[in-house]
Amino acid sequence: MILRKGYKFRLEPIKTQRNLFFQFAGAGRWVFNRGLAQKKDAWKINKQTISLFAQNKELTLLKNKDETAWLKTIHSQVLQQSLQDLDSAYKNFFRGLKNKENPGFPKFKVKGFKDSFRYPQGVKVEGSLVFLPKIGWIKFRKSREIKGIIKQSTIIREGDNWFVSFNTENEIETPKPILDPEKTVGIDLGLKSFATLAIGKDNHLVTIENPKYLRKKITKLQFLSRQLSKKVKKSKNRYKAIKKLSSFHSHLKNLRLDFFHKQALTIVKSHDIINIEKMNVKGMLKGLKNLSRAINDAAWSMFVNCLKNKAIEYGKTLNEISSLMGSTKHCSKCGHKNDITLKERTYICSFCGQVIDRDLNAAINIKAAGSTV
Ligand SMILES: [Zn+2]
Repeated sequence: MILRKGYKFRLEPIKTQRNLFFQFAGAGRWVFNRGLAQKKDAWKINKQTISLFAQNKELTLLKNKDETAWLKTIHSQVLQQSLQDLDSAYKNFFRGLKNKENPGFPKFKVKGFKDSFRYPQGVKVEGSLVFLPKIGWIKFRKSREIKGIIKQSTIIREGDNWFVSFNTENEIETPKPILDPEKTVGIDLGLKSFATLAIGKDNHLVTIENPKYLRKKITKLQFLSRQLSKKVKKSKNRYKAIKKLSSFHSHLKNLRLDFFHKQALTIVKSHDIINIEKMNVKGMLKGLKNLSRAINDAAWSMFVNCLKNKAIEYGKTLNEISSLMGSTKHCSKCGHKNDITLKERTYICSFCGQVIDRDLNAAINIKAAGSTV
């Protein structure tokens, strides 16, 4: 079994290296935005699609033109990766459409917001030095050992600091514990509580709350994003506000990841079979403001990914239950379908009379659906 893991470390570049980071990120953004504009135009004018192959070919031509010869100073794989990322964004969009998930169309990259670039290969690590092709050896704060082979490396700016994140692959022996059906859990992810768990034969209820510090941070995030929307386009203040929002975003993401890792580890360690609803966020968050929706979308899929990885690592079974089962509306006792609005916290069955917390009802349904997978 191949275990995929991410590592992130703070880089300690010297000034010339920092300048190169900005140049590489800028060039990657330029290639991405140019490619996106081309794709959009081709579709608008001729109803044509431009392939990744064609865009890569054109990139080579650009390097030989005087006005775009500066592209030669950037590592070619970094630029190709930008086009690859664009291609993936397109594919994800169309896959999302097909699955009726209401995906976002690929957006133009904005300077100062999530500045980054990516190497598909060629990055080496020795001690606490990392080698980035065409930039050189850079010191980094190696806070833990890297296990496995580095597959992809991303250089990201967060505030005034730059980080490197490695995606690694590690071939591991899969642990094969005997799965105890009693150690089954059904998980319902929600807005009020972060997660509601129905555990074991007795459907023992456990709720995981959103930590207070995260709730406060989200309020601040909303504030910062309102501030940004008030700034004049292309102004210096707007750039500053973008930078501020972007680094706060990363800060919040790190805090959440930390929270998710801890929760996922506890769940995986204490259960053998984990059933979770396949996210159909569209239906759940209808009517909520865009920003909080985006935050929750991202958070839930991050958490589910965490759970999946840890389940692989510990040899546990994870079932994703299709949301078509309607875990919220069906009575977990008799299966009767009752109508329940998003506001109603208590589920009352008109058929068998069961009165139960709505999230627990959903979690029990998810748990039950998992045993039939
Ligand atoms: Zn019922």
